[in-house]
Amino acid sequence: VPVLRAQSFPEYIPDAKFYRVEAILRPWRVSQVSSALLKIGIRGVTVSDVRGFGAQGGSTERQGGSEFSEDKFVAKVKMEIVVSKDQVEAVIEKIIEEARTGELGDGKIFLVPVSDVIRVRTGERGDQAERMTGGRSDMTSA
Ligand code: ATP
Ligand code: GLN
Repeated sequence: VPVLRAQSFPEYIPDAKFYRVEAILRPWRVSQVSSALLKIGIRGVTVSDVRGFGAQGGSTERQGGSEFSEDKFVAKVKMEIVVSKDQVEAVIEKIIEEARTGELGDGKIFLVPVSDVIRVRTGERGDQAERMTGGRSDMTSA
């Protein structure tokens, strides 16, 4: 008998089995975010140092002139987390909870559909490749 669980994710378009949650965040909040993600079983995360420009204006200080200049880019960290569809909302919620200060420049999250996942070591694809030993799906099915 199939067990029906209430799942509260919105109808993502386009529909995919996996999504990449791409979060551009304040660098000094990243370790807090990643340890919180680990606690909910999210073990696969990629981070990169990036520089960005948003409504924050690229700077907390106003400089003379309104010309677009590269020195207005602010250091940010991009976290990329590929998860199965049913885990997307938990990841987004956790990132907001841990990264939010309420001030301008807290960052932004982009949700990107992912066609497939391939584990290089084993050649596994799809669900098998996306699932990680001791990961969130192991935790929630235990
Ligand atoms: P293996 O069991 O062969 O180690 P794995 O699934 O644990 O496979 P790794 O080879 O350890 O994968 O992963 C290499 C890198 O890929 C990680 O350091 C991380 O940067 C990135 N990565 C792995 N899984 C994810 C994921 N789900 N989301 C984002 N990045 C990931
Ligand atoms: N969905 C994977 C699992 O439940 C975890 C994916 C990840 O850690 N990014 O094992």
